[in-house]
Amino acid sequence: MNEEPKFDTLAVRAGQERSQFNEHSEALYLTSSFVFANAAEAARRFSGEEEGMVYARFSNPTVTMLQQRLAALEGAEACVATASGMAAILSMAMALLKSGDHIVVSRAVFGATQQLFGTILARFGLDTTWVPATDLAAYRGAIGPKTRLVFVETPSNPLTEIVDLTGLAGVCRAAGVLLAVDNCFCTPALQRPLALGADLVVHSATKYLDGQGRVLGGAVLGRRELVDEVFKFPRTAGPSISPFNAWVILKGLETLRLRMRAQSENALALARWLEAQSAVERVYYPGLPSHPQFELASRQQAAGGAIVSFEVRGGREAAWKVVDGTRLLSITANLGDTKTTITHPASTTHGRISAQDRAESGITEGLLRIAVGLEDVGDLQADLARGLGVT
Ligand SMILES: *Cc1c(COP(=O)(O)O)cnc(C)c1O
Repeated sequence: MNEEPKFDTLAVRAGQERSQFNEHSEALYLTSSFVFANAAEAARRFSGEEEGMVYARFSNPTVTMLQQRLAALEGAEACVATASGMAAILSMAMALLKSGDHIVVSRAVFGATQQLFGTILARFGLDTTWVPATDLAAYRGAIGPKTRLVFVETPSNPLTEIVDLTGLAGVCRAAGVLLAVDNCFCTPALQRPLALGADLVVHSATKYLDGQGRVLGGAVLGRRELVDEVFKFPRTAGPSISPFNAWVILKGLETLRLRMRAQSENALALARWLEAQSAVERVYYPGLPSHPQFELASRQQAAGGAIVSFEVRGGREAAWKVVDGTRLLSITANLGDTKTTITHPASTTHGRISAQDRAESGITEGLLRIAVGLEDVGDLQADLARGLGVT
């Protein structure tokens, strides 16, 4: 019999350390520093000779519990939690890269990630090549002697393109470069990139890991030697997670798989319904057989996830009519919440890139993105039906 605890058990149990009071639920330690028994213990803690809490920029028992639980769920040796998803990506880059290094990044990554690599870190001598997310030959061709890291997001936002992680891990291994995957959209409940050969996983815990839109957080996970290196950056530079935020996310993980499964089911039902509407030109959802990478997505992910994009006939005017016709859906670019959200990427998240770049990356004027939550799917359909002119 296999005695290793399964995912659902780890989600509610892994990492918990009880205090002297033997509390049932995980304790929240709101303290910025810790006291030592004597001068010698202080010296040992500071030198790292002895494990233990020192100062909340780099140690707190609630944060440790979150890191251990998340590591168990991702199948990682180690995890460092950070103040936000961007703090996780920044910490990874600052710890593992240096001036003169080259990285290869899938083109459709989160906007702030594009800005971080392409503008801010470029000023410090980091060179980035952007490649189409699904084109393995393009990654192989872009890797050169100075390449240190390949960074991808899958499924991509908003068009849900799927990166073949097993294939890309093979390309990276052959070239001797690290593969980092932003696993924000799937979470370990649906996709485990480390098991598919990735070296690092990064998270915006702000999204599905919290799951209820309450706090910011992030994490970097992987082999201990890599995560120990990454940890040096937040430890020294300070984009560390608040113990309160860590506690909220720790509790969010307990329902992660239930939420991801239910939200994926809602998303699939909504995607099927949208595909049947004459006002809808095209639906992008990895769980639909019409998705060009349906086979790959079915192999790589346990479900399609909760992001559904679709194109309405009639361009911006028709798309805005759908947005403005909603009464239930939240009009916001946020995602990863139990509350369903709708956004028009061309005029919001992707509004600052040129019309030509937008067109090339498939962000048309008629495109809408929905991050499906936990409401009744019939209510969601009724809310969209008004703007789509369905009677
Ligand atoms: C939101 C998001 C981030 C950034 O996370 P923050 O917690 O907002 O800093 C990074 N990657 C993806 C895919 C995201 O959706």
